[in-house]
Amino acid sequence: MRVLLHACCGPCLLEPFDALSARHEVAVCYANPNIAPAGEYARRRDTLGEYADRAGIDWFELAYAPERWIEAVAGLDRPERCRACYRLRLGLVADEAARRGFDAVATTLTVSPYQDIEGINAAGEQVCARAGVAYLPADFRERYSEATRRSRALGMYRQNYCGCAPSMAEAEAERAARKAARRSR
Ligand code: SF4
Repeated sequence: MRVLLHACCGPCLLEPFDALSARHEVAVCYANPNIAPAGEYARRRDTLGEYADRAGIDWFELAYAPERWIEAVAGLDRPERCRACYRLRLGLVADEAARRGFDAVATTLTVSPYQDIEGINAAGEQVCARAGVAYLPADFRERYSEATRRSRALGMYRQNYCGCAPSMAEAEAERAARKAARRSR
């Protein structure tokens, strides 16, 4: 099967790509209008691209269009904001897969224990049905520790927030709360 794999970043690509490419012909699509600011978007893309080029992985990027994400999540907060974000990103990849004649779409997103796995797979099923390609549901969380080990060993850039501007603020607030809790012990 020819599979177009949506990838959010280099570290998350490692294990899902290996798992899927053992059984399928896989190309990678970096389609992430959620990521802000633009410099962070480019840094994650370049981390992924450098690894993919070295590994001989076929990959491409969809043009960065952060206004699409802003429109898609307008008025939403977690968890609905994240579900709209999954639908947007996977929808872009599903449409591209249909245009390029791929059989199926998959995503690296489920390697992260911090993501909504059910929400990701539901979004994938929905947008792929609309685009007329198959969706390969997955749960790669058991590979997260190996992905972490490998990405550190490779010296990859590892971001400390999910991707969007609100998630940067949320992650900073969580770190500050953990620090305050440690101090009060
Ligand atoms: S937290 Fe992550 S999944 Fe949720 S909206 Fe932001 S970038 Fe998308």
